[in-house]
Amino acid sequence: MLFTPRITKVHAIVLRAMAWREKDRLLVLLTRERGRIFVIAQGAQRPQNRLAPFTQTGVLATFWLARGREFDRVTDGRWEGIVERLREDVAALAAFGIVAEVLETATPAEMAEAPLFEEVREASLALGSGVPVHKWLTTLLVRLLWHFGWLPHLLTCSVCGEPLREQEALFAPSVGGSLCVRCGAGRSLPDAQRVAVATLQGLEALVRQPKLMTTLHLRPALWEQALSLLRMAWCYHLESDLRAWRVWGQCRKVRPVTPLPRR
Ligand SMILES: [Zn+2]
Repeated sequence: MLFTPRITKVHAIVLRAMAWREKDRLLVLLTRERGRIFVIAQGAQRPQNRLAPFTQTGVLATFWLARGREFDRVTDGRWEGIVERLREDVAALAAFGIVAEVLETATPAEMAEAPLFEEVREASLALGSGVPVHKWLTTLLVRLLWHFGWLPHLLTCSVCGEPLREQEALFAPSVGGSLCVRCGAGRSLPDAQRVAVATLQGLEALVRQPKLMTTLHLRPALWEQALSLLRMAWCYHLESDLRAWRVWGQCRKVRPVTPLPRR
């Protein structure tokens, strides 16, 4: 009797693609059915290979996979689209890279998270349709904190639980997020950063209604502050800074604004 490998079908977004062995590519996929998985596209380093077009960051596709010993192997794919903008806009590619790294690091393998998949898929299409990159990235990073159960206190103090009443507050992921000025005073918090409450209100709005990413207005400095808080929060939960921030810093040509926790 011939051995027939078990074939499974997944709906996927290609988070990352890299050369593997001599001719293959290894893909990091976010899938609706199995969470984050690694798969091999055999021969896909050759441009004429029929799987080659699928092995690019930002591809949306259905894949048929055969069980492999180390990694599953792609046997076939149905093209659903690609976030075209990633090929011409370096800032969009850098932002997608940050989100992809978060998903690759934080999403459990072999765990179906359909709502997470759907949200990332929809957001990828939104990025492709021209949402400002910094707004897109801010929204995704705060929404993903929420998805993973790591949403920090935003508009209430992590210590006394009171709503923030001043225009300024502190933010320290190690204590759970925001702190009112009173609770922050006299505490030595290595990762605390001063923050405008308007920034926290922006984040709260985005986490409740991600669709606001196209319309929410904040001063540019506050968007930067929001990103810097989110970077700190992710750094705290993943226990290391995301590598992709370096690329972001380079292509945005901004000085690094984030004082990261000293270790
Ligand atoms: Zn307080």
